[in-house]
Amino acid sequence: MKEFDYVIIGGGCAGLSLAYELETYKKLENKTLAIIEPRNEYKRDKTWSFWKIISHNFDDCVKKSWENFSINIPSKTKHLECYSFPYQTIDSGLFYKKIINKLKANKNIIFYNSIKEINLKNSFIFNSVPTLKTDNDSFWQHFCGLEIETKNNFFDDDIINLMDFDCEQRESVHFFYTLPYAKNKALVETTWLSKMNDDLEKNYDIQIKNYIENHLNIKDYKINYKEEGAIPLFNPTIIKEKNKINIGTAGGMTRLSTGYTFLNIQEQSKYIRENIDNITNAKVFEMKKKYKFLDKIFLSVLKKNPKKMPNIFFKMFDSRTDTVIKFLSNKSNIIEDLSIILKMPKWIFIKALLGK
Ligand SMILES: Cc1cc2nc3c(=O)[nH]c(=O)nc-3n(C[C@H](O)[C@H](O)[C@H](O)COP(=O)(O)OP(=O)(O)OC[C@H]3O[C@@H](n4cnc5c(N)ncnc54)[C@H](O)[C@@H]3O)c2cc1C
Repeated sequence: MKEFDYVIIGGGCAGLSLAYELETYKKLENKTLAIIEPRNEYKRDKTWSFWKIISHNFDDCVKKSWENFSINIPSKTKHLECYSFPYQTIDSGLFYKKIINKLKANKNIIFYNSIKEINLKNSFIFNSVPTLKTDNDSFWQHFCGLEIETKNNFFDDDIINLMDFDCEQRESVHFFYTLPYAKNKALVETTWLSKMNDDLEKNYDIQIKNYIENHLNIKDYKINYKEEGAIPLFNPTIIKEKNKINIGTAGGMTRLSTGYTFLNIQEQSKYIRENIDNITNAKVFEMKKKYKFLDKIFLSVLKKNPKKMPNIFFKMFDSRTDTVIKFLSNKSNIIEDLSIILKMPKWIFIKALLGK
């Protein structure tokens, strides 16, 4: 069986981002790489969005970028500007195509469907398949989005609606997310922060249909694309091994309070590329400890006080918008952290801190 210098398990966002980074910086001219990916065909399957707080390799895969967003709770709306850090949406179809085309040109890179096809013994492994140990307390950000096209122009395509909490909450946290790609096209997503719940999942289509037809008041539209997913809001199991690093979701790159992962994956890929020549001894790239700590408290508040969360999210944006964006994108300094923390309802956060 064939041996490789590097093996990437999982050719999804993290696996391909890393392979692209290594190839672009000519780290695979004299090294071999196997990418293990069970899917036989790459199709658009995800919409990755984020505030562009750092540069990345995929500006040419951006479907649309916005400099305004809104957030609302029943009867109150905030309109916010994000000129310094535009909100970008990446089309995964374009992302896969760009990377696969680039990797195809290097004969040292080979795709396999199964790990059984190669010999791993002497390889350094980058693993993006997470081990997720769930229990009764495991929360997820689970969602379903429909990209719709309306007959008449309906949307203001200069502004996204990041969180619309003016909807049914049940015992969870629920909001709608709308990305208007054009005046007659938008991705409308129902998003829940909760335990996985069959009743909610089976019902996604009805939730979105009701929102589009009765809340947005759009009656004449067709559906062009659908995406569904669940992001774990808990840490994956990571076992330290000398010849293996976990990457992407499997490597703890998801910000647990928000689900944002894409830019963290890009930073992790860059770090690995910079250290690839001495990767066995390099420190593992991790999200800053303060964010792990703050997110743990935030999630504890969320689990115990779901009904209060719309107001808490809304209030968070009382701080300067750039500050909130930096905080949510792991780029805030201590003063910025404090300005957000001090806006939060003190007592429930102190109780969460004390584990009550
Ligand atoms: C629908 C969806 C939308 C998202 N939107 C956003 C967003 O807007 N912004 C953001 O920051 N984050 C978002 N995320 C979170 C995160 O960015 C994505 O989940 C991202 O794809 C994570 O990259 P990854 O490589 O860790 O996992 P994946 O992209 O899922 O890649 C894992 C790969 O491993 C392969 N695989 C599975 N089993 C095996 C196996 N046994 N052996 C080998 N390979 C295997 C899979 O086929 C897949 O290609 C979203 C997640 C989902 C699910």
